[in-house]
Amino acid sequence: MDTALPIENLERYHSASQRARVATEAWASANLYCVNCDSPRLEPTPANFHATDFHCPKCRDPFQLKGQSKPFGNRIVDSAYSKMMAAIISDRAPHFVLLHYAPDRWRVLNLLLIPHFAIPKSAIEKRKPLSDTARRAGWIGCNIVLTSVPDIARVPIIVNGVAEKPSDVRRRFRHVRPLAELTVEERGWTLDVLTVVRSLRRTQFALDDVYAREDKLSRLHPDNRHVRDKIRQQLQVLRDKGLVEFLGRGSYRLR
Ligand SMILES: [Zn+2]
Repeated sequence: MDTALPIENLERYHSASQRARVATEAWASANLYCVNCDSPRLEPTPANFHATDFHCPKCRDPFQLKGQSKPFGNRIVDSAYSKMMAAIISDRAPHFVLLHYAPDRWRVLNLLLIPHFAIPKSAIEKRKPLSDTARRAGWIGCNIVLTSVPDIARVPIIVNGVAEKPSDVRRRFRHVRPLAELTVEERGWTLDVLTVVRSLRRTQFALDDVYAREDKLSRLHPDNRHVRDKIRQQLQVLRDKGLVEFLGRGSYRLR
């Protein structure tokens, strides 16, 4: 994986943002590989004017590229809130590939994969409607809140300008892929409980440690009054999916 962005023929684009978009899309076409199978390439999806959409020619998994010149913060700006929510609910969201580049050196510094099945509804944040004076007044966009995606499901592909080995990237992806088998409704709970468990920052933990975060889960699921039952149930789901190990007597270990 070459981290240099292609800069040939960029002078015909007037704005810096256009040049950046063209360069990052060209880079993605030449360098992105599939994480779900062994395909060494992804293809731009036709029918899209902006080639930010890619798919795997082999397994057909869809990917969406999001480039930015600033380091990743907690939030990634996405498009329309209603469109993103509909995609999550119907399980049609693409995997997101977040690209952070150095605009002065035309280099990819960081590349992060967020699998579509790792984004719970709770990670989609509604933005303020555009003001009345805006061209698209009233339009509501959204943010993807990265800290609401379990850390284990944020898969680094390039870190500080150094590409990870594709075999390592695919291994990390495979580790969380069993979450894709869950229904969207259940997966939301599973991901939220996994985020809470991983935020304990301990390999071994007790049921009481998770119960102590009951409030956070209640806020995310205000309609459910049996949060403790749900926590126990989701720990079993996480065990079945190979992400948590039961040690007995209310004790658990992350895998
Ligand atoms: Zn593939």
